[in-house]
Amino acid sequence: MPAIKDLEIGLFFWAEPDARATLVNVLSTGVTSGQLAIDGTVKLSPETAAAWKAALAEAGFHLFTVFAAYEGEDYADIPTVVRTVGFIPKATRAAREVRTREVIDFAAALGVKSFGCHVGYIPHDKNDPDYIDVRDMVRRIADYAATHGMTYCLETGQEPAAQLLEFFQDVNRSNVKINFDPANMILYGSGEPIEAFRLLRPHVISVHGKDGNWPDPAKPGSLGVERPLGEGSVNIPKFFAALRETGYIGPVCIESGVHGEAQRWEALKRDVALLQQIRG
Ligand code: MG
Repeated sequence: MPAIKDLEIGLFFWAEPDARATLVNVLSTGVTSGQLAIDGTVKLSPETAAAWKAALAEAGFHLFTVFAAYEGEDYADIPTVVRTVGFIPKATRAAREVRTREVIDFAAALGVKSFGCHVGYIPHDKNDPDYIDVRDMVRRIADYAATHGMTYCLETGQEPAAQLLEFFQDVNRSNVKINFDPANMILYGSGEPIEAFRLLRPHVISVHGKDGNWPDPAKPGSLGVERPLGEGSVNIPKFFAALRETGYIGPVCIESGVHGEAQRWEALKRDVALLQQIRG
């Protein structure tokens, strides 16, 4: 298995039904490591875990993180995200906690040391019953991940960095960490990404390579638009300079949803080459 470099360029990718075929495509982009995302429809059986474990070993592929997404999540605009994403929607909260444990078990079976997901729009008021319930749920999930020697990464974007930091401190679990996504800060209008990264830096263990533009101020509640790497408002070279300057040496996993299905893998290959060049 190739050694992991400082600022290793990896890929964030979704589990497709055939583990081996998924990894053949991922490897074709030039990476040998990354983060695997499991959507809510993926059936997690011991056979699924065994197939992924064998395919990863065969490919010599290193997984930093397993991410969970949940059935019914919808990223159409900010009100829809508030209503559907993460642990905030009350109607699905208990079912998503069960599913989260299953994804953590799956990650453990693969020998992966980190789990991640979006918590959703955390209420600002610390006395809000939803804030308290979700904070307690995050604590339970962190404690469950800890039984497998795993960290639990909160994904950034849905709140300003200072608010995420406050929530993070309130959760108060040593294995809770941050997966920093610079584009999400822009897409959700949550604040300038490099400044946000500096504030959260002591807790960041993984980073997404993603780009995008700010929401249109004339359309309240809209999200910004994701852009191909290097063509959005993140300023990727400046972001890499901030990673270096703050001593961050963890992975940078490209997460891109902008390429159409037919040209997706070719386009990701260009994204990988671009980040490898910027990293130097
Ligand atoms: Mg992300």
